[in-house]
Amino acid sequence: MAMYPWQAQAYEVCERAWRNKRLPHALMIAGVPGVGRHAFALRLAKLMNCQNEVSAPCGHCHTCLAIDASQYPDYHVVKPAADKSAIAIDDVRTMIETLSASAWGAGTKVAVIDTAEQLSLASSNALLKLTEEPPKDTYLLFLTADTDLIVQTLVSRCQVIHLKATSEETLAYVAKSMSASPDSQAVAVSSMLHPGAPLNVESLANDASKLDTWQNFIKHLCLLADKRIDPLAIIDKLSSQSTQQVLIVWQQILANFIAAKLAGKALHPWLEPLAKHKFRIALCYSLWDMLCQARAQMVKGITRNNSLLWADCLTMWYRIFA
Ligand SMILES: [Zn+2]
Repeated sequence: MAMYPWQAQAYEVCERAWRNKRLPHALMIAGVPGVGRHAFALRLAKLMNCQNEVSAPCGHCHTCLAIDASQYPDYHVVKPAADKSAIAIDDVRTMIETLSASAWGAGTKVAVIDTAEQLSLASSNALLKLTEEPPKDTYLLFLTADTDLIVQTLVSRCQVIHLKATSEETLAYVAKSMSASPDSQAVAVSSMLHPGAPLNVESLANDASKLDTWQNFIKHLCLLADKRIDPLAIIDKLSSQSTQQVLIVWQQILANFIAAKLAGKALHPWLEPLAKHKFRIALCYSLWDMLCQARAQMVKGITRNNSLLWADCLTMWYRIFA
């Protein structure tokens, strides 16, 4: 797989360090979901193990193919199970034991800790010890959306690599990767909802039914601002969506609105009905805090009553447009 253009610089830094035998044994690859953290980790794992001596992994040797297929015995991944919010401590322990044994092949062992913000304190401590004394030829790659949500002693043991995509890079990628010429409105709204995440922008712009859902959500937010519906009338609509996605999308809508009102940035066409309204900025920030807090609680595995959460947020949104 070709490298994503916005990752080239970060990759070169790692590649050079690897060639000079100075790549740290613990890397923290940070970036929003949809920026391609996993692809970056895969590329590093292939660089470390590719059978052909080149600066970029060849992508077609036995090892590269096995890593791509997640079937390489010295490539390990831990992540939260689909129905769990935290990474299981047993999975972490098993991985540490495996890493302490000698490598299966002649190459380098690579362990990926996916969604590292979901590590419990116990798991973080176990991994902290490993980062202090890594077994020979072993590299730990932590993938995270936000280093602030990880135990700081662990972060300080790692070299942090920030993956970022500008909006120009996102648009260029989407234009190139979509087979049919993209619907500009679909791309514009996807970019607003997933800033800095070209892969998510691409997948949303291609997903008409999901786009429809978010367009409906935005329509309802506009109706609320117009005081044409009651905040409690749309709780059910929100409850049927992924809580985390609604939180993220709502934050982006709010960010776009604030940037338009305070900094003269363009208001997204779907939010145009909000342009005419007076609004209370202090309440915008209150809602922002509520959404952030709810996201942080989700990350920590704190469950709360969604209906209450949505009632609070919708009421706050309603009050913004006094
Ligand atoms: Zn190869």
